[in-house]
Parts: sequence; structure tokens; C-alpha cells
Amino acid sequence: MDITKYVLAVDDERSNLLILEKALKQTCHLITTTSPFNAIPLFEKYLPTLVLLDIDMPEMDGFELCEKLKAISAEQSTNFIFITSHDEFDYEQRALQLGAVDFISKPLNIPICQLRINNQLHITRQTQLLKQSHAALAKEREHLRIILRSINDSVIATDEHGFITFMNPAAQRITDWDQQQALGEHISKVMTLTDATTGASLLNPIEHAIHEERAVAMALNTQLISKEGFTYRVEDSASPIITEHGELIGGVIVFQDVSETVEMVTRMTHITQHDQLTGLPNRLLLHDRMIQAISKAKADNEQVATLVIDVDNFMYVNDTLGHQAGDEIINHIAKQLQMIAGNNVTVSRLGGDEFVFMLGAVKSYSTINYIANKILSTIKEPFTIKESEINVTVSIGISIYPQDAYSVEELIRHADTAMYKAKKHGKNCYWYFSEELSDELQDRVAIERELRDVLNRQALILHYQPKFSLKSGDVCGVEALVRIEKSNGQMLAPDLFIPIAEETGLILALGKQVLEISCRVAKQWHIQGNPTSIAVNIAAQQFNQSSFCQSIESLLKKYALPANLLELEITESALIDNFEQAIETINQLKAIGVSVALDDFGTGYSSLSYLKYFKLDVLKIDKSFVDSINSDNTAYSIVSAIVTLASSLALTLVCEGIETQEQLDTLKAMNCQLGQGYYFSRPLPLDQVESFMFERDKH
Ligand code: C2E
Ligand code: MG
Ligand code: MG
Repeated sequence: MDITKYVLAVDDERSNLLILEKALKQTCHLITTTSPFNAIPLFEKYLPTLVLLDIDMPEMDGFELCEKLKAISAEQSTNFIFITSHDEFDYEQRALQLGAVDFISKPLNIPICQLRINNQLHITRQTQLLKQSHAALAKEREHLRIILRSINDSVIATDEHGFITFMNPAAQRITDWDQQQALGEHISKVMTLTDATTGASLLNPIEHAIHEERAVAMALNTQLISKEGFTYRVEDSASPIITEHGELIGGVIVFQDVSETVEMVTRMTHITQHDQLTGLPNRLLLHDRMIQAISKAKADNEQVATLVIDVDNFMYVNDTLGHQAGDEIINHIAKQLQMIAGNNVTVSRLGGDEFVFMLGAVKSYSTINYIANKILSTIKEPFTIKESEINVTVSIGISIYPQDAYSVEELIRHADTAMYKAKKHGKNCYWYFSEELSDELQDRVAIERELRDVLNRQALILHYQPKFSLKSGDVCGVEALVRIEKSNGQMLAPDLFIPIAEETGLILALGKQVLEISCRVAKQWHIQGNPTSIAVNIAAQQFNQSSFCQSIESLLKKYALPANLLELEITESALIDNFEQAIETINQLKAIGVSVALDDFGTGYSSLSYLKYFKLDVLKIDKSFVDSINSDNTAYSIVSAIVTLASSLALTLVCEGIETQEQLDTLKAMNCQLGQGYYFSRPLPLDQVESFMFERDKH
């Protein structure tokens, strides 16, 4: 019900009341009475907005009644208008003292009554509305206050000069300031902000926001130092407080403690930018650092050197010693490299056994040479893992910004190419990139692709080179020599692809296929009644596989091949890497009945003394000695010493690469037993070697 609706009129003269009823019919709900006593319960019942009171009434005058009614309506704001024929000053004063808002003179004039009362009702209504909106506003304020108090974000408000006017509990907690203490203090005193990295103090965003009259985000990397000295990483924004009339009255800042998030992000960034095994920067971080180094070098007219470092024979080390030892070796190398690294150096692990050493701000080649030599000599130092001594070496490829390339990717690629060159050059050395190397790499990649394809298709080709008895001239076996036929029909010699097969580990698949073909061919010849021994070259990695003897045994079984028809040619490198195991493997092979030849004798470590540990059957003297046997006394002496040694150890001796009659004569005179070389026959395809050997025998 509209509370402004009821109006109570009290007058002992009924005629006056009738006039009023008539006048106010349209305006409000008029309740009338001639008795002041009746007026009281009516007032209580209707709680009118406006009471019209006659002053002169016989039972109780209007002033007295007014006081009584006012007492009842302490809460209710009722307005009183007195109706009177008196116009003395006293009356007026008394009426005003009682709080009357107006007078209406008798005799009553209807239009004036209407106007006065309507005005009064209108004022009352406005007052009511004002009160209501005040109440709503107060409620809303309280609501906001509760929200600000209870949100987790910190909120601080200031006046337009930056002096604090409000702080919610979250802000009080993080700053260690009590709202009571903080009120009136300047924001810069309560919120100490610094740059988390540099420690430099930062202007509070609220001051920015006030100054620029726009919302301002807090600088990234902001750190808040509390009154007690605790630091928090904080993030968020400040806004000016501007009234609807555009007047700037202050600022507000809302911020959060993001320390945990920042820490998590930092940790995540570390994980994604570092190698798990060694903790070194990974390729991603290296990339960033190289970009920085390159742009600095560009500005300062300096160079950036990229050294790709690859562990020599790591695949082989990993296979023979196990992955755990492999990991330990990688960790050891990582530590050594870190120790060598100084300022302006990033040591990174690209994966596997490959590291990158990036030298920024390089001024001369001698610095690079010094570092490369230092790496080689440091890594070469033996160390122990689980009580066994480990010897590893690395090969290093070097590329330089800006001479060799401008981009990170190309620098690494070129250094990688140079590293392969270092490997090819005997390992344990460093090599600088050059344009020619780039072409070589292209070829290398093409060969690797060709090799994978041939192995997938099981399309290796074997050529066979016969071996001869120097005394009788009879064929006494062949050596199987692998070839690859390229897609263009061209034959690739093993020198071109065996090193690649060894580096990529493809040598194991290759060796397996060569053994398979050789056993099949040997068996065929055996069935045909031409039993001929086949010598197969075995790579060090292959020989040192723990399953090697077993695989030989099952091959012999598979083809029902007499073991004496298979000979295995190994090199010194296969023996020295793991002495104990090599002795064991050779013993097992002997037990199976397979003979073992030491190939390229004289070119490797050639410590004659160790030969007695291995129960070898055959020694093959390297072609290089045969080449110069007639021109070089030393070569001659070495060969004759080997002949004596072989006979004392009861080893069969084979001389490789005999090309001339003179060489043959000299070797014959020395009492060499067997020979192999272009003088007798080149390595031949299967059909040709068959007709060479078996048809020749018939003649
Ligand atoms: P190797 O085992 O010492 O083989 C002898 C190499 O000398 C063969 O080269 C042969 O063709 C070559 N040769 C023989 N007589 C003469 C001669 O009178 N003059 C000249 N100039 N060369 C002669 P090839 O076939 O190119 O093989 C090179 C090397 O590749 C082999 O040396 C061997 O270490 C490796 N290889 C060949 N086949 C295999 C294989 O199936 N597995 C493995 N792991 N290595 C292989
Ligand atoms: Mg050989
Ligand atoms: Mg050889």
C-alpha cells in the first residue's frame, strides 16, 4: 500500500471536514473525525502521512493532540498541518515548534486546500523515495564492502594523491600493514614494489593510473616486499577512480600473489629447456642463447663459434657396457665440458652422445683451437665407472658465425658436417667446416639412404676374392667382400659405406646379411662338391655383441655347414676394446670349429706381444707392407719378422694386395704361405668366381 495515501483530518466542525473530503477526493484517502480522542486510535490504525489538525477544539486543542500523536509516531515521519482562523504570531511559533509544516486558514478555500495538501503529499513522497534510495545505497555499499573484504585478491584504494583510503584484508596480509595504520599513508610506503630480476624499485601502478587517468597493468616481473621483509611475486592492474561527472577522486589497485605460479612456470621452463640426464641446456635453450650471441656478435663485430662434440664409438660403448654405463659416461663428459666452459659459453646436450659448445664473443681462431684442444685432452683422460677404467675420446666439428653461416640451424648443421669429417679423419680430433665438407655431407646422406634401402630390400651384393697357396698356386678359399649397387647401377665400394654403417649402427644388420649370404654360398659349393672356405669380414661392433657366437652357431646349423668352411676376419680394434671378452669369444668360436683371422695386421696397434693371448688361426698382413716390400727395407724387415712370428705361433699367414710378380717372388722367398691380390684375381661376382675357381680346377 502506498504509505503516502492516508491523510487524517481532525476538526470539531463537521462542515469543515466535509469541505476537506470534497477537496481531497481525488488526491488521497482521507480519514476524518470530529473527536480528538477518536483521532488517536485512527492514527494508530492508519499511520497517516499527513495529519490536518484544527487548533480550536473543545475537548483537546490541536497542539495537545499533535504532541500526543507525535509521541505515538516517533518512528513514523508524519507531517502536521494546522487549520486555524488564528493568525497570531504566538500560534504560528507554537505550531512550528511542534513541527508543523504548514497552515491552512479558515474559512477553508477548496483550491487552496488542494494545493497545500497536494504539495505536502508530494514533498512527503519525494522524501520517502529519497530515504528508500539512501537505504538501497547503504545496502549496496555494505555489499561491496563485504565482497572486497572477502575476495582473495588484494585491493587498495587511494585518494587522488595516492594516500590510502581503503585496504582489504588480503592486501593487509600480503603487505603486513594494518588497515588502521595504513590509512592516510602514501601507497609507495605501504606497497614496496621492485623488479624481481634487477631489484630496481618500481613506481606503483596506482600512481601511473592516477597520473594518466587510465587503467594500467603492473609490469611483468614485479615483486612486492612486505613490511616484515617477505617477498611475493605479484601481478595485476590499477585503475583511476573517476566520478560520473569525470572528476578524478582516487585510484584502486587489485593484485594477486603469483609466487607459486611463477615458481611453477620457472620450474616448467627449466624442464623444457634442459636435458634431463645431464641438466645441461637442451637444443631449445641453446637455440635461444645462440640467437642472443649472434645478435651481440653482429653488434660488436665479433664471432660465434659452434663446436659440435660427438663421443667416438659411443654406440659400441653403449652396446658393450650397457646403457647405465653409457649414461654415466655422458654425465661424466657433461661435467668435464662444464668445467672447461667459462664466460660467454653455453654447453648443451643435443641428445644421444652429441654436445654443443657455443663460444660467444670470439675474437680469434687461437681461442677456438685452444678450447678444442682442451676438450680433446680433458675427455681423453681415463676415468672409472664401477671400478673399470673407461677411455673415451670425442670428435669435434666447428663452424663459425658469420664466416660459415648466419643462422643457428645452419651453424649447427655445418659444425655437424665438420664433426663427421673429424671422425673420418681418425676421430679424437677437431675439424673446421668448409664448403667442400658441405658437399661431402650431401654424399654421405645419400649413401646412408642408399644403404638403408638396400638393407631393407636385403639386396646386398657380395664379391669374392680367391686366396692362393703361394707354393702350389692352388685356390684355398675366398674372401667375401660386400658391395652396394646404387639405383643408377653403379657399384659402391665398402670404403664408402662401411664407416657410415658403423657410425649409424647399420653395420649390425649389414654384417648379419653378409654372414647369411656367405653361409648359403659356402653350403651350395659344398653340395656341388667344391668345398671352399669363405672368409667373412666382421666389424668390431658385431664381434663384440654378446650374442655373436650363438648367431654363428645357429647359422652353421641352419645351413648344415661344416664349421671349417667359415672363417671370420676381425681387426685389432675388435680385440683391444674389451680384451677379456675378445679372448672368450675367440675361444668359443674355436670350440665351434670356425677359424679366426686377424685382418689388416700391422696397421693398428700391432703390439705383437698380445697375439699370444688370442687363439687365432690366421694373420693377414696388410696390403701397405706388400706394396713397398721391394722398395722399402723397413717394410721388408717387418714382413719377414711377421713371417717368423706366425710360424712360431703356428698361424697361417696371408699376404694381402699382391699385384706384381716381384712382390710374389719376394713373399715366396720369405716362405709366406698364402696370398691374395689383383695379381691372381680381383674380387669377382658369384658366377665369375665360380667359373674362375671350379672350371680352372678342371683344366
Ligand atoms: P679387407 O678386408 O682388407 O679387404 C681387402 C680389400 O683389399 C678389398 O677391398 C679388396 O678388394 C682389396 N684388394 C685385394 N687385393 C688387392 C690388390 O691387389 N690391390 C688393391 N689395390 N686392392 C686389393 P674392398 O672390397 O674395397 O674392401 C675394403 C674393406 O672393406 C675390406 O678390407 C674390409 O675391411 C671392408 N669390408 C669389405 N666387406 C666387408 C663386410 O662384409 N663386412 C665388413 N665389416 N667389412 C667389410
Ligand atoms: Mg678382410
Ligand atoms: Mg685386409
